[in-house]
Amino acid sequence: MEDTAQLDKWTAIRRGLKGLCPSCGEARLFRAYLKPVDNCPSCGENWEDVRADDGPAWASMLIAGHVLAPFFYFITFRTDLPDWIRTVALCVVGVGMCLWSLPKMKGLFMAWIWYTDAPTSTRE
Ligand SMILES: [Zn+2]
Repeated sequence: MEDTAQLDKWTAIRRGLKGLCPSCGEARLFRAYLKPVDNCPSCGENWEDVRADDGPAWASMLIAGHVLAPFFYFITFRTDLPDWIRTVALCVVGVGMCLWSLPKMKGLFMAWIWYTDAPTSTRE
């Protein structure tokens, strides 16, 4: 386990974005889609108490919204597609963006919370 004083915060955040342990970067941070491991199998860092709460969902919707808005404009006003295709395309792109970005944002938030040692609902 690297000491957070020696670890660059951007390194920790980059590891979190990749779904790797922000502390060592050697092992996966998640054992399932959004379920973090209790302890890193490589460095032993405890991830059980680092809770990102609603931050990743907020960030994912922020990203998806900024992609969907120009896509919505393009597909609505610049194409002659039938409405049902527009609707399906918007749903697929919106849900796809959220599902793609959610684990990345959770890794980012967990890395940030861990690095800054910010208190959460279970950490003080
Ligand atoms: Zn680790």
